Amino acid sequence: MEEQVDVDVLVAGAGACGLIAAIKAHEQGCSVAIVEKFDRFAGNTVLSCGSIPAAGTRMQKAAGINDSVSQMIADMERVSGQHDSSHLIATIVNESARLVEWLVDYCGVEINLYTNYKHVGHSIPRLHTQPTGQGSELINSLAKTVQNKGIDLAFNNPLRRLRTQQDGTVIGAEIGTKDHYYVVNAKKIIIATNGFGANPSLVKQFCPELSGSQYFGAQSAQGEAIEWGQFLDAKLGNVGSYQAHASVAYPHGELLTWSITEKGAFFINRNGCRFGNENKGYSGFAKFVMEQGNEAFAIYDSNIRDYVCKYQPTYKNLVDMGGAKEYDDLEILCKEFNINASNLRQTLENYNLIALGQKSDQFGRKDFGLSPLKKPYVITRVNAALFHTQGGLMVDEKAHVLKTDNSIIRNLFAGGGAAVGFSGLQGGDGYVSGNGLLSATVLGMIAGENAALECKNESLRH
Ligand SMILES: Cc1cc2nc3c(=O)[nH]c(=O)nc-3n(C[C@H](O)[C@H](O)[C@H](O)COP(=O)(O)OP(=O)(O)OC[C@H]3O[C@@H](n4cnc5c(N)ncnc54)[C@H](O)[C@@H]3O)c2cc1C
Repeated sequence: MEEQVDVDVLVAGAGACGLIAAIKAHEQGCSVAIVEKFDRFAGNTVLSCGSIPAAGTRMQKAAGINDSVSQMIADMERVSGQHDSSHLIATIVNESARLVEWLVDYCGVEINLYTNYKHVGHSIPRLHTQPTGQGSELINSLAKTVQNKGIDLAFNNPLRRLRTQQDGTVIGAEIGTKDHYYVVNAKKIIIATNGFGANPSLVKQFCPELSGSQYFGAQSAQGEAIEWGQFLDAKLGNVGSYQAHASVAYPHGELLTWSITEKGAFFINRNGCRFGNENKGYSGFAKFVMEQGNEAFAIYDSNIRDYVCKYQPTYKNLVDMGGAKEYDDLEILCKEFNINASNLRQTLENYNLIALGQKSDQFGRKDFGLSPLKKPYVITRVNAALFHTQGGLMVDEKAHVLKTDNSIIRNLFAGGGAAVGFSGLQGGDGYVSGNGLLSATVLGMIAGENAALECKNESLRH
């Protein structure tokens, strides 16, 4: 006899998406269970910087920042162009302020608004984060809410297979391993298991240009949602898009925050030459670093280093670990890093003239932060890495998973990295800062609310 459990809503995955979906469904009166593959919170949310973009929040109003839904939509569309989930953007952005305020009011998440830095792709400061700038803080607050509300959360309980009726309606899931599993009969299932960044063969299939690059995200992102979806004839969207990062400090393995670049750093190869427009942002610039044999050097100065150290503790850690070396003499810098010194001298001279507006940039860079650069100079060696994939199960405005013919797979919802993202059709260029958690948090909220609403409506009908 199979062991069977009944719930209204089953959520797979205990990241931002799954926890928010579960809390929301519970808030609306449903019985909810969360199953998590790992023995702890082990998703990308924990590793993230916890930054969530939202337009028109009370935090922005208090800071005197005048933002609007239409401005945020325009920013996202400018960077990502038209893509498979363009139809979702208005809904997501419309709900973003409500989500952030609910996180504070209902889940006790502490939220600060970044006001001194707009982030890649945003024309207005709208990234809301936790005081430490670490997603683990977001997860801790959500986990506390789950516990306080008495929502069941089972670690070490992977969802392995969805169960359906003959007509394809989802009715439950098998939890555990092939040889040892139990069945959860659920009225609704929410897939919040993230993308496939940790699955080299799916990365090779869908994002070939990043195949073989370093992966900087969670090992739990194995792409099961794609496999379950394909079995149910689900439609996939934006499956070749991803967020990469151009500046992971080598050999420290710590992120060199893109604030350093926005404040004026430029990148060179070992030849001492620049090779692209750094204003493309950390994700879009990553492919240029890959083209240099996945090795580059960020060149900046002590002024920029000290400015960023003041408000980004994680960057200060990198500096303390020796990841930002200071030199008065360019010759010595080049000798130590085996960089062509005469080329770098010329690159620096040119760059400073461009930053002063006395020359135009062949790569099209327009923003130069605190440049021109002055002695002492600072260098960080970097490489590019894949952070997370941005494509997945196609969903509608209510987070229902869709089939290839655009009909709904009944009772199945998805959000976060498991679902289609908003970062363009292919590649890393379309990623706007915060698109990952925007999908995880807002689609998680929408999935939880709609799953609960359908449960309620269906029980009224019976
Ligand atoms: C270093 C880094 C920094 C980042 N910073 C930001 C940022 O500041 N802002 C932003 O918007 N985005 C950021 N991102 C991206 C962001 O972290 C992700 O887009 C987001 O966290 C995805 O949330 P999720 O809930 O979908 O997935 P996750 O947080 O990864 O949660 C998915 C969970 O599902 C579990 N799971 C997987 N398979 C199964 C299964 N079969 N059964 C049960 N459970 C399963 C996993 O173990 C995991 O716990 C960053 C990513 C990285 C790597």
